[in-house]
Amino acid sequence: MLATLTLTLALAVPSPVSSETRYDPRIPTLKEVVGHGLGEEITSPDHIGAYLKALAAAAPDRARVVEYARSEEGRPLHVLVLGSPERLARLEEVMKGLRALADPRGLSPADADRLVREMPAVVWLVNGVHGNEISSPDAALALAHHLLAAQGDAGADLVRRETIVLIDPLQNPDGRARFLATNRLGRGASPDPEPASAEHDEGWPGGRSNHYLFDMNRDWFAQTQPETRGRLRLFLDWYPHVAVDLHEMGGDSTYFFAPPAKPLNPHITRAQQEWHESFGRAIASRFDIAGEPYFVREVFDAFYPGYGETWPLTHGTIGMTFEQASARGLVFRREDDTELTFLDGIHNHFRASLATVETAAAGREKLLRDFLEFRRSAVAEGESGAVRQYVLVPGADAARLARLADLLVGQGIELRVAAGKLEAGARTFPAGSIVVPLAQPAGRLVRNLLDPRISMDESFLKEQERRRKKRLPDEIYDVTAWNLPLVFDLECVGTGVLAGETRPFVPVAAGGEPPLAPAKVAWLLPWGSGTTAAAVEAVEAGLKVRVAEAGSKLGGRAFPAGTAIVRVAENPETARETLGRIARRHHVEAVAVDSGYVEEGVSLGSGRVRLLKKPRVLLAWDRPTSSLSAGWARWVLERRYGQAVTAVRVSSLGRVDLARYDVLVLPSGDYNEALGRGAVKRLRDWVEAGGTLVALGEASRWLTREKVSLLATTTELRDGRPETEPSEEKEGAEKPPAKDKDAKPEPFDLEKAIQPERERPDAVPGALLRVVLDPEHWLSAGTDGEVHAIVESRRVFTPLKLDEGTNVGVYAKKDEVVGSGLVWDDARERLAQKAFLMHQPTGEGHVIAFAEDPNHRGYAEATELLFLNAVLLGPAY
Ligand SMILES: [Zn+2]
Repeated sequence: MLATLTLTLALAVPSPVSSETRYDPRIPTLKEVVGHGLGEEITSPDHIGAYLKALAAAAPDRARVVEYARSEEGRPLHVLVLGSPERLARLEEVMKGLRALADPRGLSPADADRLVREMPAVVWLVNGVHGNEISSPDAALALAHHLLAAQGDAGADLVRRETIVLIDPLQNPDGRARFLATNRLGRGASPDPEPASAEHDEGWPGGRSNHYLFDMNRDWFAQTQPETRGRLRLFLDWYPHVAVDLHEMGGDSTYFFAPPAKPLNPHITRAQQEWHESFGRAIASRFDIAGEPYFVREVFDAFYPGYGETWPLTHGTIGMTFEQASARGLVFRREDDTELTFLDGIHNHFRASLATVETAAAGREKLLRDFLEFRRSAVAEGESGAVRQYVLVPGADAARLARLADLLVGQGIELRVAAGKLEAGARTFPAGSIVVPLAQPAGRLVRNLLDPRISMDESFLKEQERRRKKRLPDEIYDVTAWNLPLVFDLECVGTGVLAGETRPFVPVAAGGEPPLAPAKVAWLLPWGSGTTAAAVEAVEAGLKVRVAEAGSKLGGRAFPAGTAIVRVAENPETARETLGRIARRHHVEAVAVDSGYVEEGVSLGSGRVRLLKKPRVLLAWDRPTSSLSAGWARWVLERRYGQAVTAVRVSSLGRVDLARYDVLVLPSGDYNEALGRGAVKRLRDWVEAGGTLVALGEASRWLTREKVSLLATTTELRDGRPETEPSEEKEGAEKPPAKDKDAKPEPFDLEKAIQPERERPDAVPGALLRVVLDPEHWLSAGTDGEVHAIVESRRVFTPLKLDEGTNVGVYAKKDEVVGSGLVWDDARERLAQKAFLMHQPTGEGHVIAFAEDPNHRGYAEATELLFLNAVLLGPAY
């Protein structure tokens, strides 16, 4: 790469690399290993891995490749560890020191000083999380070569002396492989710069997401994907001081780096913001010398803690986002007729990455001291506020608490568990309650995930109201609420002094508990997230599982509606063992009963106890579904609950024999053009013959259209009128009121005159809204009658009339509807008591419609249960 790198960097732009710099020929270039030079081709995931290994083999004392995860499609995820030979020779010891620096409790001032003096600054460069954002992985390879091979380069020497650089060239190998396949297939004799050409135009679902179509730059605290989980483990092994997430944006843009845009997450400290300035200025000076345009602060915010930038910030790391204009291929023609090449993008990311590692190296000691101080002040803050800890109270669904606890532990949060009863003032908490102390180095992450509200800058909010009035889009880049206890529907209580004994929390290993008690008649499993997963697996294993439509009392114990029943008489002798194994795996209680004689309610042999079928589920796939919604639904069914799914492209729905399926899930999307009258009729016939149609978000809105009419309601306009298309309006339906002839003409009111005639409401920017459920309806089985749903749309559904169906979930009243996040005042009014979950019996079947996506990012536990109820219980009723 000696020739390639110096030549290309020097030719295309003034080089960020000194003209004195020479490259050690013993370190292989990209071309020597994979056959193409930097920027000549978009390097494939396989070739990226091969090149990292070749680099490590050429410099084993200074470079090490670690595989930290495998993608869903089986591709390895690597990190290249670069450091001085002295440090790599005793790497375990260095990593221990780094972890000690991350936990200031019990660290003496002398030890702290020693660590700050001796430890390297750790800079973690995470690239290519979006698979179609192609330049950062190749820039990462160039940087790795530069740091290993550069000679006579003072910057590289400084970095080697003061830092350990962790280069993760590719966070999303499956998405990149998908992009490469379409790009290569779309390419003709030579790369075409035309933006509309097939090589730039990806089609559904595009390479941005991973295999299950998740946006992994929203997955950091949710940890739903194997790539994310591996990355978090890696973070917790190292506690890096700087973490950069490198992206691409639209091809007509330039380059973006720190400081981030408003709103800032309120737990980002002053010192972190100062580092954003320092890094920003250092990168800017490199870009200024090169004459490369850039911008800061304008677009990409650091509010949502699930970003690759913000999650590390909550741990004290200096997290940053870089964005390069994307050539989305090898070359791209911009609007101004200039050409942007793939290599241009590589140069910019290389330039910004190099400035970052050099700035970190030059400021090593301050960086480490500030990191230590962040972790120390997080502990101190937790010791001083009114709330000293959160207590997560075990509810009816033990599986859900176990899942949340694992999620918190998985991101470096310390938990304790109540050994006996705990007391805080008049409130008592049972044994098994989970205590999350705020006084811990990860205290600011705890507050991000468990504080009921995360505040947004007042002046920013005012500005958004001003913009809304002018119909300018708001500047909120992502959701405004994510509170985990609300999305898990678990009680979480912030307390001051807490009396009682706690011990450190240790996740329960599956299979460690005693076997299932023998039963003469049946085992009863109260419904919930855990039981749902257990029921799917039990049915799959050949057991007969029934569900009770209403509650009962048996042996002095109440069993709520939805309780799953495994009868001894109708199951094989091995049922006890099979069910025991399954119940343990899913953290659910299976109560053995020796008599079917109930004291109250539904008998075990009642006609209101339904046999759970093994549903054959069809998931609509491809255009026009939202790829996120389709991906979330598939992941939630298959990976979270073990329910098999057949994904069928919408374009093939017309020729599939629907009778082969019990359930059809329509992910969010507008099916207006994709499904014509014939397809709609087939759909209706199928529902009437007993099918369960489950529509999510925008698909539910489509169901209300006049020519579809599968859902007997409508969405509403801003002023509350029904949203029917103008062409469908009945003639004379909206005559203006007759004018009083004698009245004086009103003075012209500009404000009033410019209000649009028919306008949809503004979108709710991702808030948690309280939904009140109908406890008598089977769709709300396993809930306590109330959940919080993530609302991120402009859809407002008028509730169904009594003769059409049931509004199983409606948003709470105006004053109680907001659980967390930003909801405009008028939206609060508009959404109050409108429909969230609708059930419309149709012939022998069901139409079940969700106003929003219940599977949001795969972590909306409580609403996901409602979705599973629709899929599993629909066919049973
Ligand atoms: Zn991106």
